[in-house]
Amino acid sequence: MRSTEVWSRLGRSSKRCKEKCLWLDQVLQENYRTPDLGNLPDPLDELIFILLSKKTPPNRYLPFFLKLKTEYNPWEKLLSTDCNELTEELRPLGLAKQRSAQLKKLVDQLFETTGCVDLGFLRDLTCEAARKYLLTLRGVGEKTARCVLMYSLGHDIFPVDTHCLRVLTRLGLLPPKCSLAKAHSLVDGYLPKGISHSLHVNLVVHGRGCCTGYIPLCEECPVMSRCNRNGVGVRIQT
Ligand code: SF4
Repeated sequence: MRSTEVWSRLGRSSKRCKEKCLWLDQVLQENYRTPDLGNLPDPLDELIFILLSKKTPPNRYLPFFLKLKTEYNPWEKLLSTDCNELTEELRPLGLAKQRSAQLKKLVDQLFETTGCVDLGFLRDLTCEAARKYLLTLRGVGEKTARCVLMYSLGHDIFPVDTHCLRVLTRLGLLPPKCSLAKAHSLVDGYLPKGISHSLHVNLVVHGRGCCTGYIPLCEECPVMSRCNRNGVGVRIQT
């Protein structure tokens, strides 16, 4: 039997999970106060920002985003930029070839499908329609699409990133070894309305500073009283 099925049978009822999420959101808000993580109001800025952030700490990708934003303003400039030039630009950040190819494909696809390099039109769509469009873009998966929807377009939708997955699993709100795809559908099933943004941001802060990857700082944790510490000491694959 798969771990998600076992987990369901153990009685993780939607009502219990809902109540625990409300409690968790409140305690994390009191401790971390939902800080600004540098995300951006423009959906294309945010998408490029997220693509640069993959597998990279914030102190490295933030300056690169700002540099690119200044040099390729407006983003249409990337249409005529040589991929090798962009690779050189991104080399100090790492994964340069991969990132430059992804950026080029993204702007090319946007231009081919909409006639411009802009995602502002997503503001006129429903959350689901905007999500579906974002998922058609090369290199954009469920978590990235949800980040754009939540951070830039203000929708009440919860992105499960590595930090959220790890902390929610340890707290017993997700089953062990849960995939990101499964995590999104489980969380959608019980998360109370109106807390996606605060809970996501504060879980990221908590995951970066306290409930860290291999050895979490449980003695300093504000939510320890209700944590099962599931999988602590086990590396979670995403
Ligand atoms: S008690 Fe430990 S494992 Fe649980 S959320 Fe806090 S830091 Fe993470």
